[in-house]
Amino acid sequence: MEVTLDRAFFKRSIENMARLIEKERDHLTHLDSEIGDGDHGVNMSIGFREVTKQLETIDEATEDLSAFLKKVGMSLLGKVGGASGPLYGSLFMKMGDNVKGKNEVTFEEFIGMIESGVSSVEARGKAVVGEKTMIDALRPGIDFLKSQTIDNNELEVFGDFIEVMQEGSESTIPLVAKKGRAMRLGERAIGHKDPGSESSWMLMNAFYEELKKELN
Ligand code: ADP
Ligand code: MG
Repeated sequence: MEVTLDRAFFKRSIENMARLIEKERDHLTHLDSEIGDGDHGVNMSIGFREVTKQLETIDEATEDLSAFLKKVGMSLLGKVGGASGPLYGSLFMKMGDNVKGKNEVTFEEFIGMIESGVSSVEARGKAVVGEKTMIDALRPGIDFLKSQTIDNNELEVFGDFIEVMQEGSESTIPLVAKKGRAMRLGERAIGHKDPGSESSWMLMNAFYEELKKELN
């Protein structure tokens, strides 16, 4: 049977993201205090608290998944200071781009949604892999997802996607930053993980946790 993911799935996933971000807030902030200005966890928490607050209203006020995700992105963008706000804002806004008129998507469409979200982060931030940003997790992750043949193995593939993203995040440790605040540190950034690469796999992991409940 073909897997379909409805709007309620996305809503639950976003609620789960908010929970995960609260749980990991201090950890993310700690990572950012090593190579940035120590606010990444706080920024993410402020953003997702706002999204949580507005989620019911957004859900009621929107006709399709596209408008729903657009508004989620806009509420992130409006509230999160720092580089990550506009980047994650556009990730959610663009995830909805190709699903206009739909409130239910197939797994393949879901992959396509993630792909357009990631591409918009690249378009906005101009980062490429190896520059010690969230793209080091997001880009290899989505490339992996797209390369897979989906045949009743959605959960396994998505689990592997999370692992690829985690590896991508780990791969930022030995790097010098070429984008973002950590750039100023030069070689002193070496030995520290990029905070945005960590939060980005965590956000995707919230989808994974909901997918597990959905497909088991
Ligand atoms: P700020 O750096 O403004 O304090 P945050 O601390 O919330 O904002 O977010 C920092 C994260 O944003 C970094 O760890 C990095 O992953 C990500 N980032 C910064 N600049 C870019 C960029 N140009 N492209 C992609 N990601 C970026
Ligand atoms: Mg910061």
